[in-house]
Amino acid sequence: MRVIVVGGGWGGCAAALSVKKRGAESISLERTDMLLGTGLVGGIMRNNGRYTATEELIAMGEKDIFNAIDGNLLHRDINFPGHRHASLYNVARMEPVIKRLLTESGVQIHLMTRVTDVEMNGACITALKAKRSGESVRLEGDAFIDTTGTAGPPAQCNKYGNGCVMCVLRCHTFGGRVSVAAKAGVNEFSGQKGGQTGAFSGACKLHKESLADELLKELNTTGKVVVPIPPALKIKGKLALKACQQYALKEFEDNVILLDTGHAKLMSPFFPLEMLREIPGFECARYEDPYSGGLGNSIRYIGMSSRDDAMKVDGVDNLYCAGEKAGLLVGHTEAICTGTLAGYNAVGYVMGEPPWCCPIAWQSATVSGIRANRWWNMVVLTLNSLFPAPCCSIE
Ligand SMILES: Cc1cc2nc3c(=O)[nH]c(=O)nc-3n(C[C@H](O)[C@H](O)[C@H](O)COP(=O)(O)OP(=O)(O)OC[C@H]3O[C@@H](n4cnc5c(N)ncnc54)[C@H](O)[C@@H]3O)c2cc1C
Repeated sequence: MRVIVVGGGWGGCAAALSVKKRGAESISLERTDMLLGTGLVGGIMRNNGRYTATEELIAMGEKDIFNAIDGNLLHRDINFPGHRHASLYNVARMEPVIKRLLTESGVQIHLMTRVTDVEMNGACITALKAKRSGESVRLEGDAFIDTTGTAGPPAQCNKYGNGCVMCVLRCHTFGGRVSVAAKAGVNEFSGQKGGQTGAFSGACKLHKESLADELLKELNTTGKVVVPIPPALKIKGKLALKACQQYALKEFEDNVILLDTGHAKLMSPFFPLEMLREIPGFECARYEDPYSGGLGNSIRYIGMSSRDDAMKVDGVDNLYCAGEKAGLLVGHTEAICTGTLAGYNAVGYVMGEPPWCCPIAWQSATVSGIRANRWWNMVVLTLNSLFPAPCCSIE
């Protein structure tokens, strides 16, 4: 019984672990040389409803990933605009911790393995074709999980954004994102808001040592810094570009808000470097991610799959999905929750067991004693708390 998880972001890591825990052979394929995907540069956990979702998943027994994250925090329980009781993990040390957790749990990780195509038998995928360090490989499986995310590749960042700004996904080195679902013939959809297709990622990272000493000290001590932007340097309309519209608050237009995630996480999709350097304390500022963060950011929400409540992709019998691939799920916690559910149900499919999910009519049900309902409530709680108003429509 073999389940193959494509994409090693938070969604894929959670799915691969969940598959292994349910007793199947778990293979994780990641096109770059590191796990965590966009989680390599994220870091905000447990803010707002994510706290509830985290604690629910832990209470259900799926504690390992959150425990690993909690063991690698730089700051706990901090507040900043739009975010209550947030934790910040150390992006510099997170990936090896998770890689060790997966390896010790028995997940087989194949880095620098980029899936490029699928083989089908009717409505089932039978095998994946991939490139590993220039070699062609073919991997057969019983079920598959697409956690390839929605960011990039450069063609999308060129078409819908300000071009490739060299983000942590490093498409020019490892090849861009390839969707398993699309290769299996699934019609995918993209986020739409006004005239914009997709959305800019909502944060970039500055080299901490490039900040003035007093800013650096405050950032290291309190985990955050809020610096008012002089009126002449404010960029109107930038908030509308953000992926995470629930955090598109005026405070982010009026201030430079930095968070200590190992890097100085700048809560803005981008900020022209010369303008940033005019703000006191930022005279030497330089970007760590994306390297051209003065010009733009990666474009996300391109190529989501329609799926059912068990995370099964519509139209393919043995394909599941999680994380951003599964809809407008904009954070690590959501990726971990949906990845865990997708992994569980992918193995259940192979074993011929019914999936854990609830009919749509139950979505607002209160927490009941049975696990299926608890799963559903976890995801609904997360989404409700994250999306007080629609983030963007789906097309
Ligand atoms: C700059 C930035 C900052 C963020 N900050 C935060 C934050 O602080 N807190 C938070 O909760 N969320 C944050 N997010 C959002 C969060 O990172 C994502 O919503 C979540 O982690 C998505 O996980 P995922 O696994 O669905 O996708 P991704 O992280 O996009 O991972 C997809 C993975 O699939 C791999 N892949 C793609 N195609 C293939 C293929 N064909 N073969 C093999 N591998 C493939 C990619 O290399 C990648 O590693 C941030 C996002 C960005 C871009």
